[in-house]
Amino acid sequence: MLNLEQMRKDFPILNRKVHGKQLVYFDNGATSQKPRQVINELVDYYENYNSNIHRSVHLLGEEATEKYEIARSKIASFIGTSVPESIVFVRGTTEGINLVASSWGSMNISAGDEILLTPMEHHSNLVPWQLLAERTGAQLKFFNLTEDGQLDLSNMDSLISPNTKLVALTIMSNVLGTINPVKKIIDAAHSVGSIVVLDGAQSVPHMPTDVVDLDCDFLAFSGHKMLGPTGIGVLYGKKEILDEMNPYMFGGEMVRQVSLEKSTWNDLPYKFEAGTPNIADVIGLGAAVDYLLKIGLKNIHDHEISLTSYALTKLEEFSDRMKVFGPRDTNLRGGNISFHCRDIHPHDLGTFLDQEGIAIRAGHHCAMPLMHCLEVPATGRASFYLYNTHDEIDFFITILGKALNYFEK
Ligand code: PLP
Repeated sequence: MLNLEQMRKDFPILNRKVHGKQLVYFDNGATSQKPRQVINELVDYYENYNSNIHRSVHLLGEEATEKYEIARSKIASFIGTSVPESIVFVRGTTEGINLVASSWGSMNISAGDEILLTPMEHHSNLVPWQLLAERTGAQLKFFNLTEDGQLDLSNMDSLISPNTKLVALTIMSNVLGTINPVKKIIDAAHSVGSIVVLDGAQSVPHMPTDVVDLDCDFLAFSGHKMLGPTGIGVLYGKKEILDEMNPYMFGGEMVRQVSLEKSTWNDLPYKFEAGTPNIADVIGLGAAVDYLLKIGLKNIHDHEISLTSYALTKLEEFSDRMKVFGPRDTNLRGGNISFHCRDIHPHDLGTFLDQEGIAIRAGHHCAMPLMHCLEVPATGRASFYLYNTHDEIDFFITILGKALNYFEK
């Protein structure tokens, strides 16, 4: 059990008033709030040892380098690997996936190859593959979805064929909340020699992740969705695959030898970290990982499942006026709940809730093809995190009821 009252004190923003009302922050799928421990770590860096890393001969530079590399090791073990070199710091999930598409994709994909995706991908795990397919003449293929928003695996054996070279999918949908059976898909993909790229943006912050057990080839995730700062994210890759890949960006730090005509590349992970990296935010992400580990990912997941189950039951009250998407079974999903009310645009609903201090997301959630599958232009989405409470859900349901009555008058 989480000590919610105590924990919420770590998040200064949760005391904020919005339009004179107590903030209820249900937009964690977009970005999470930050605990004091992360904010303090950033302040400490800038106040006490701000300097560039890896190349300084002075104490501040050594301290910053040490903290930066300690954060890398922490993050490696957080996702279950003992190989810190397999952790590449990027800006976020988007950049991580683009790195793979650009570097691994250009070296390994050619005409006639197949790239298998799902219709529930965020644009950042769709558009880079579209462009790779256009560049190389490869073909995109897609799993189907079931009625309740799960992946339909009934035709997996025909979708995954010897032509499949890459499978890319999200572990948890940012819209439906669905948690995909990625291990099963990874095993099937590996049996035909395909690699698998996982989008962990919505799962890594909310449940335990073990890249060794999953045996995924790549995993990308974003610091800002897991209590960390914006502008920092992680690409995990199997070391032997990263070793074979060309760098993605070129410049300082990623080189070993440079002459006027030619250059050679640094070791992993530095060959993928050109230029001055986002030092403060890497260290801040390390503090976020410490915080998550202190609470425990299993505890966080259990708490969110309890919130999700409670919210789904409460939302049934509106079942004649509102459609809720995604699986009903909380063994199959996490805490992203999307809904759509006939005749009320989600933006109007979101604005109504905002007037009462409740922050939800309204829109296509960077998943336009999924909106098409769901046959809606957009949805409202409430997404939970460790600091949310059952009382907040009660308040949300009350205000949602008022909103429905208001707009349906
Ligand atoms: N993938 C999923 C499933 C997401 O939900 C998001 C962000 O909402 C992303 C990728 C992109 O993350 P970022 O904008 O941090 O790169």
